[in-house]
Amino acid sequence: MSQKEIESLYTKLNTSVQLLQQEIDVSYLEALLETGENLLEGKTDNSEETLAIETVNRLNFLYQDVSLQDMEPEEIRKAFQLALLKGAKADQLQANHQMTPDAIGFIMSYLLEKIIPEETTELRVLDVAVGTANLLSTIYNSLMLKKIKVDAEGVDIDDLLLSLAAVGTALQRQTVRLTHQDVLQDLLIDPVDVVMGDLPVGYYPVDDRAKRFKTAAKEGHSYAHHLMIEQSIGYLKEGGLGVFLVPSQLFETEEASALTKFIQESSYLQGMLHLPKELFKTEHSRKSILLIQKKGATAKQAKQVLLAEIPDFKNQQAMLHFMNEVDTWKKENI
Ligand code: SAM
Repeated sequence: MSQKEIESLYTKLNTSVQLLQQEIDVSYLEALLETGENLLEGKTDNSEETLAIETVNRLNFLYQDVSLQDMEPEEIRKAFQLALLKGAKADQLQANHQMTPDAIGFIMSYLLEKIIPEETTELRVLDVAVGTANLLSTIYNSLMLKKIKVDAEGVDIDDLLLSLAAVGTALQRQTVRLTHQDVLQDLLIDPVDVVMGDLPVGYYPVDDRAKRFKTAAKEGHSYAHHLMIEQSIGYLKEGGLGVFLVPSQLFETEEASALTKFIQESSYLQGMLHLPKELFKTEHSRKSILLIQKKGATAKQAKQVLLAEIPDFKNQQAMLHFMNEVDTWKKENI
């Protein structure tokens, strides 16, 4: 992995965004989307003649200097991710729409690779809140490096984020089918081996639709993340795995009993790993990684649920200790 290559691609993406923003009234992320599309085409699309000819020439010169085919997918993801981060700041993206930070993506990827069977060669993966696909792409690249062929699907309600996901994954040469819709509507997706998501936290506004779910609130709005967990399990194969980023107090709220009951009926709760508190502004905003496995096939309840505090990522020794703990848990429980 070359840091120089990553920085060089990021600089070109950012320069292209700035050139576009100087001439057309678009947000950073919209200009990044256009930049990605231009890179895939190899040139600027100026069919509507919105750009001055010198700008078109400067942009095309910039794009010609990019050789994506010589870069590893993970290098491309990192460069695109830096531009997404800048865009999220510049466009003041709301918290629930923020992409999943790399540190969290890497740990989710590590845990997933630990719990899938060692002989896995192919995996169908669905991200139910795919956003920019930064999380999905991190997991995709990591599985591919382990020689696991990935067939990925992603769903999101936000069209700009989903378009960025389409461009980002295409730049990384990933095969991902993306669907723009409310994930709580019926999905045209065949069952998958792994369902995942950095779930949006808060209330789901469509009460009539929420009512169809067992995890709906008895009165008023229901929690979107509860409904999304239930919906996700519905699209898992028997014995399939769910890996979700959820609020750490998931099971401690008043509304948690219906969710707990639904999980107990349909699946096995295999783990709940709390991310380091240093990553979050308040204890209330702290997140954890929830691991569940749908009942059926050869799935069985782990003798001991993996409950752990993930150490501060900078503390190498504590991180090693944590990884050993996960290894031991795997050997003894699944
Ligand atoms: N993992 C993503 C990434 O790396 O970019 C970030 C996910 S972000 C925290 C949560 C996502 O859930 C947002 O992209 C938001 O648009 C999406 N979302 C919220 N409600 C949704 C719904 N009802 N159906 C589908 N997507 C939804």
